[in-house]
Amino acid sequence: MSNEFKSGLSRRSFMRTLGAASVAATSFPMLAAAQGTSAATQLGGRGANDTGARRGMGMGMMAMPADVTVISGNENPLGPAPSALTAIYDTAKLGGRYHGEISYQTITTFNNIFGLKPATATTAGYVGLFPGSGGPLDLALMSNIGPDKPLVYADPSYEQGPRAAEVMKAPKFPVKLTPTYAHDVKAMLAAHPAPGAYYIVNPNNPTGTMTPKADIVWLLKNKPKGSVVIVDEAYHHFSNDDSCIDLVAADQDIIVTRTFSKIYGMAGLRAGVAVARPDLLARFATAVPVARSLASISITSAAAAKASLEDKDLISLRRKINADNRTETLEFLTKHGFTIIPGSQANFFMVDVKRPGRDFASLMMDEKVAIGRTWPAMPTYVRVTVGTRDEMAKFQSAFVKCMDKPSTTVNGAASLHMPQFHIPSELYRGEVNA
Ligand code: PLP
Repeated sequence: MSNEFKSGLSRRSFMRTLGAASVAATSFPMLAAAQGTSAATQLGGRGANDTGARRGMGMGMMAMPADVTVISGNENPLGPAPSALTAIYDTAKLGGRYHGEISYQTITTFNNIFGLKPATATTAGYVGLFPGSGGPLDLALMSNIGPDKPLVYADPSYEQGPRAAEVMKAPKFPVKLTPTYAHDVKAMLAAHPAPGAYYIVNPNNPTGTMTPKADIVWLLKNKPKGSVVIVDEAYHHFSNDDSCIDLVAADQDIIVTRTFSKIYGMAGLRAGVAVARPDLLARFATAVPVARSLASISITSAAAAKASLEDKDLISLRRKINADNRTETLEFLTKHGFTIIPGSQANFFMVDVKRPGRDFASLMMDEKVAIGRTWPAMPTYVRVTVGTRDEMAKFQSAFVKCMDKPSTTVNGAASLHMPQFHIPSELYRGEVNA
């Protein structure tokens, strides 16, 4: 049995199992009081997810022919782990009730893994469970920035930071990445004397590159009092570096967000966490007064998240599959003389297509391969998600073929797969992307 099969399910059996389980998927308000936790630890953000909204628009991915290889949205082709699917199936039948205790158990599991103090009858905890990490990321950003509290962030990086700044009318201070594509923490510190927040994506999206933890520790030590460091660890499980969650446990001015959408393959199921000191989590409610009612995570997703956390070998197995497929593809591209951004420790990478990225994506769509988008700071680079070995073989042959073709103007179909704006939260309406 291949590793890819062991750590996931075949597409057909996955669909069959999930079809049965998702019928009963339901959302519920979190029972903060009953769990002895504060409302802050139970806040939530996001109901309509990015890919869901994207798929609902025009010729979304749902309408995409089944023979198209989709390596555009940094999703995990393996889907949820078998242990997560079993948990969904077992939990779905309880779906007639709210069952807040299932989320509580998921949070407890997370606390135990990371050595975080649990909530008690009188004190709030350090973990908020949400439908995905995009919602709590917005809350983390929005509760710390505003007209007199700027946002400092990297460029290119994940657009959710600057978009939240626009919503909050917070001045934006983009800072170039270093020559090794890390966040330039010294330049970030120098960017403004008193920002509301520094946003660090680690590994960075779209480059996949790491910012050394020592740099984040340095920023925390040297930043002005009153500002927070937000570390987005959506892709961190794919890397070999240490997480920043221990800095939360040490009561630093830091908020870490994590998702079950990526290594755990649960993008459509929606689960994510914000990890921070209770007072920082409590602030989320002031940013978005309706935050709590948006918190609803279904019991099936909470149970799947818990099962994934408890699945001992899952991360190492999937990290290796991803690293092997990424390395093989990057070696192939380099051997053929193409220019890549080196150092990705994520499930995606960037490659220079020597023409506007959208035009190249259009050519790739003609070859039935949907790749990711470009960033204004690197307009000739496209981001490509690491898929299965078969998917990467299809990518490689289509890539070589398309690089031999002359540039053509982007067509409508490709632009539908490469939306340029990122609007990740249900707090907004519009086209979105991962
Ligand atoms: N952070 C980063 C860097 C992302 O790329 C994404 C989605 O692709 C998210 C956060 C939000 O993902 P989700 O809401 O599915 O957890």
